[in-house]
Amino acid sequence: MAKQAKMVYYFGKTKTEGKGVSKSILGGKGVNLAEMTRIGLPVPPGFTITTECCDAYYKSKKKLPSGLMAEVNSAVKILEKELGKKFGDDSNPLLVSVRSGAAVSMPGMMNTILNLGLNDAATQGLAKATKNERFAYDAYRRLINMFGDVVMGMDHHAFETAFDKIKKKYKVTEDTEVPAEGLKQLCEDYKALYKKQSGEDFPQDPIKQLQLSIEAVFGSWNTSRAVRYREIEGIRGLLGTAVNVQSMVYGNMGDDSGTGVAFTRNPNTGENKFFGEFLINAQGEDVVAGIRTPQPVAEMPKWNRAVHKELLEIKKTLEDHYKEMQDIEFTIERGTLYMLQTRTGKRTGVAAVKIACDMVKEKLIDEKEAVMRVPANDLTQLLLPSFKPTARNAADVLCRGLPASPGAAVGKLVFSAPEAREAAEAGLKVILVRKETSPEDVDGMNAAAGILTSTGGMTSHAAVVARGWGKCCVAGAGEIDIDEKGKKIKVGGRTFNGKDIISLDGTTGEVMAGEVETQEPKLSGDFAKLMKWADGFRTLDVRTNADSPADSKRAREFGAQGIGLCRTEHMFFDADRIIHMRSMILADNEKDRRAALKKLLPFQRKDFEGIFKAMDGLPVTVRLLDPPLHEFLPHDADAQKAMAKELGVKPGQIVKRAEALHESNPMLGHRGCRLSVTYPEILEMQVRAIVEAAISCSKKKIKAMPEIMIPLVGTEAELSMLRAKVEETIKETCEAKKFEGKLDISIGTMIEIPRAALTADKIAEHADFFSFGTNDLTQMTFGYSRDDINTFLPDYLSQDILHVDPFQSLDQSGVGQLVEMGVQKGRSTKSKLKIGICGEHGGDPSSVDFCHRVGLDYVSCSPFRVPIARLAAAQAALRNSKK
Ligand code: PEP
Ligand code: MG
Repeated sequence: MAKQAKMVYYFGKTKTEGKGVSKSILGGKGVNLAEMTRIGLPVPPGFTITTECCDAYYKSKKKLPSGLMAEVNSAVKILEKELGKKFGDDSNPLLVSVRSGAAVSMPGMMNTILNLGLNDAATQGLAKATKNERFAYDAYRRLINMFGDVVMGMDHHAFETAFDKIKKKYKVTEDTEVPAEGLKQLCEDYKALYKKQSGEDFPQDPIKQLQLSIEAVFGSWNTSRAVRYREIEGIRGLLGTAVNVQSMVYGNMGDDSGTGVAFTRNPNTGENKFFGEFLINAQGEDVVAGIRTPQPVAEMPKWNRAVHKELLEIKKTLEDHYKEMQDIEFTIERGTLYMLQTRTGKRTGVAAVKIACDMVKEKLIDEKEAVMRVPANDLTQLLLPSFKPTARNAADVLCRGLPASPGAAVGKLVFSAPEAREAAEAGLKVILVRKETSPEDVDGMNAAAGILTSTGGMTSHAAVVARGWGKCCVAGAGEIDIDEKGKKIKVGGRTFNGKDIISLDGTTGEVMAGEVETQEPKLSGDFAKLMKWADGFRTLDVRTNADSPADSKRAREFGAQGIGLCRTEHMFFDADRIIHMRSMILADNEKDRRAALKKLLPFQRKDFEGIFKAMDGLPVTVRLLDPPLHEFLPHDADAQKAMAKELGVKPGQIVKRAEALHESNPMLGHRGCRLSVTYPEILEMQVRAIVEAAISCSKKKIKAMPEIMIPLVGTEAELSMLRAKVEETIKETCEAKKFEGKLDISIGTMIEIPRAALTADKIAEHADFFSFGTNDLTQMTFGYSRDDINTFLPDYLSQDILHVDPFQSLDQSGVGQLVEMGVQKGRSTKSKLKIGICGEHGGDPSSVDFCHRVGLDYVSCSPFRVPIARLAAAQAALRNSKK
């Protein structure tokens, strides 16, 4: 941290500092509190301590930076003067909240302390100032409890037990029914408890309270739940959290007070309608913690019409200013509205698309901005299955909760986060059922297919987090009686346990018994509109990796401009084909191999015809056989016996062949073009099938555009030899079929071995196109086996050796160099060489950005990622043209 860096920024009527200072220093909340103050919204004044101080705190073994408390003291003085209140005063005390606020919002993950500044004297002062003794002692007991919990890490249950005792004494059940003297007594009991557990008196000096709270907020940056949240969200490179100290306003001063949270538009559907919830006579934490179920803001006019109107005006002011949907927190103290927070609202993919399109219509943003606004990966949510209407109508609906995060989820019931995690690791789909979720549940929520809670509103922690992830969530399903210990739920007189499956409809909030059938999504409406805009901006083509007519058709509906990778090996696994494949492998001479391959040819030809038809007029890159042959043989004894019976050979023969094909490193073994070198007849059969299919299509006026791709090439010689074989086979097949028309077939190679990238200029002499196989290229550049990486990847990620899985997101600085070199060298030989990518990275937005920058012609990805790649390609074009 620079020596003289300013550590504290004030916001209020006296002055508002920090204009132009970034979120990375003031945190999102800090920046927006200052900004709201500047645009004249009613914000209680306060100050923000920078994230640099948090960084310094960790760098100096958890000591606050020197000079910080002096700056804090002067800010407190200004605050006291502005509000005409004093810290610890026995007639009109200043009270503040202390909250975390990082550059990226982490809902519920870090600490908050409210009512700070209360001590024995100030509580009497507050009672006098508010003429409400009960309120004052209620605030004090909340502070001691929260301070004990959050700052001193004390046992929360001890406080609850003490409160229960008081309630018993007054023969009441609700907190709100305890009279002033009861709360006074409770404060004494809490102080005693505090002393007993911490060994110290509850601090009476407000500045000391403040200092300890600041340290506690900094400390909460590195709790395991916060660290885990950042891991899941991929949040990296932040300095730490800022701390916001803000004068308190009270939503719990009686029935003319309240508190709420709202979104300026519906975060689930995107509908342009103020969307929020509020609780009368409550403090902010009561809403987000999901303890009481709040009322929708639409019902607010019945309670206070003026405040509702003011909120709607604030919605407009905020959206006009930020040109974005906002997520706000507000409090009404005795009829006066205060804004406590605004930030860009988290939303579902569906809402992101609608809001972007609507804001273009409303002229708040232009089409380019709309395209930039929607995180490409969030489209996944629009590409998720929903329930089939017929199945949905017939479903056994158990109850309806709040539609907290849309989608369809089906799974077995689990009742704890660890259980959800375990089940997900075992590949099972589960629904995590909790009364209310706590931040410790993030892991389990992430692992589950869906989340169901019985309390909490639309803005409860579970709802906000689930929406951010596009995870189906039904919250506040109050009719469900959850027995977390007994691992069962009761609803409508029926009981369900961990063996039962339920279905959740996150769009309607309905909970259904059993498995309700789901269906694939469609690309229409705003989604189609956004895609059209994206297509207008992008320069990269988007193809798909598909190896069946059905996948090809679906990908084309999603906008694929051809097939970038048709993996032919997948075509050999059906029961009626594998047998011929296996006899081919068992054959010990060319003649028998050819006989078996001849039987496979009609199947291949039919497959290709189907794919060419689905892709009529678009290029289809067919890759010749790639995997090692042993992958087609059964490995357990029973299956080997069954195969022997089917083929009429001795089991020993199969065992022998499997052993002969065994390789220590099959991924680096006899596969790819090496198979074609050893068994050219396989190449011949595949090429013949492609050509015959193309000829047949041509006769049916279907425009087939096959591109034959040779995998795993590492030397120029491999390609030149195999290319000659392919050309010869094309010629022979046309002659045999007496085909006189013109076939448009190009021949190219994958660049997936580092040596191929290094010698791409030579290889390009024999290639009409390149396609980067970045799965293998990553494997061979890192020397990580793609099939075994999970043995150490989690350690590498948690210890920050790797920031992301390099098989998911391209390692741009390492593997990327080979890609860049391959492009440059290839085009140094053939300036117009067509180049694409067909590794998994072709559907990853940041990898797509890289592909755009290095000048590829297209990316190719799985059908469901095609819209994501289209949007990412547009964003790459816009982003890079700005630069
Ligand atoms: C690749 O290696 O990137 C590739 C697309 O081929 P495969 O994953 O089939 O090895
Ligand atoms: Mg490969």
